[in-house]
Amino acid sequence: MIYADNAATTQLDLDAYESMKKYLLSDFGNPSQPYSFSHTAKAAISEAREIIAECIGADSDEIFFTSGGTESDNWALKGYMKAHKKKKLIISSIEHHAVIHTADSLLNEGYEVDLLDVTHEGIVLPSWLKMKINEDVALVSVMLANNEIGSIEPVDELAEIAHEYGTAFHTDAVQAAGHIPIDVKNSGVDMLSASAHKFNGPRGIGFLYIKDGTKISPFMDGGAQERHMRAGTENVPAIVGMAVALKKNCNIIETEKKHLHMLEEELIARLYQKKLQFIRNGSKNHLPGIVNLSFKDSEGEMILHRMDLLGICISTGSACDSINNQISHVIKAIHVPEEYATGTIRISFGKDNSIEDVKIIVEALAKILQ
Ligand code: PLP
Repeated sequence: MIYADNAATTQLDLDAYESMKKYLLSDFGNPSQPYSFSHTAKAAISEAREIIAECIGADSDEIFFTSGGTESDNWALKGYMKAHKKKKLIISSIEHHAVIHTADSLLNEGYEVDLLDVTHEGIVLPSWLKMKINEDVALVSVMLANNEIGSIEPVDELAEIAHEYGTAFHTDAVQAAGHIPIDVKNSGVDMLSASAHKFNGPRGIGFLYIKDGTKISPFMDGGAQERHMRAGTENVPAIVGMAVALKKNCNIIETEKKHLHMLEEELIARLYQKKLQFIRNGSKNHLPGIVNLSFKDSEGEMILHRMDLLGICISTGSACDSINNQISHVIKAIHVPEEYATGTIRISFGKDNSIEDVKIIVEALAKILQ
């Protein structure tokens, strides 16, 4: 089997797995209990919080553990809007559904939501935000990098513009964290969402960075966990595994980038050799390893299933969209020509992919498409 769908999820890192075992099997105490048996679990959470904070340039008390990217996005948007009087929110048109559907739900509750268009490369231009924003906007949310086409957004500039209007800025960094450098203090974002399963950590765990001093409502009511902001007994093994995975990934960002760009280039060169008609979507400045391709007069769904029969895992765009056969909202937003749009697939390489995988993928695509 060739796994080339690392943007959907990644394989758990072995060191992360090893670090989790102890908290599953022996040091299983509830971190909220005062007896000494629970001290190890409590200390492990503190250490994980510090490691994660260091990886993104935050202070440890600005990191709040959640169940993943969807929860972090829901909390950032709903929690912030509910804690403020202003009723207006701006998001980009290519956000993940975790942001888009959260904004829809706020819209149903009487909030106002405005959408930012993107360029053909999937970029939110700062000048376009300037045209939409005013003092009535409470929050702007633009993802750090898109999960379907990989385009990296100019969030530092966007956050600066938002702040000029007294508006807070959230970024969904779920696809980006662990793959490109992040420094929240330098970039000036107020909130940032991340999810462990996208950077070789376990599934069902993530975090929300909330800049110190940001007014936001708690996500869940109940116990006093996460400083009364997100109730519920902590998933200690997953928290520990997430910290190990993030640190490991952040330490190898530059070497991984080179490896993944090499695989991308090899893939594109070989596709040209096969004389297939396709467009590569996304911007030059993109997440390493993500290759979104639209093949002329084809069906992404058909390609995916035939690749599956050949033992290759790829995606038609966003994995969360695979039940939906329609053209994804991202592909629509970047205006891929109709005769190409339906034939869109996403190949996303990870650290374990090799040149040999690329050769097999290209041969398989050529066989299917010719
Ligand atoms: N945001 C983006 C950009 C994503 O790619 C995803 C997952 O695909 C999510 C949010 C949701 O994250 P999770 O699967 O951890 O809930």
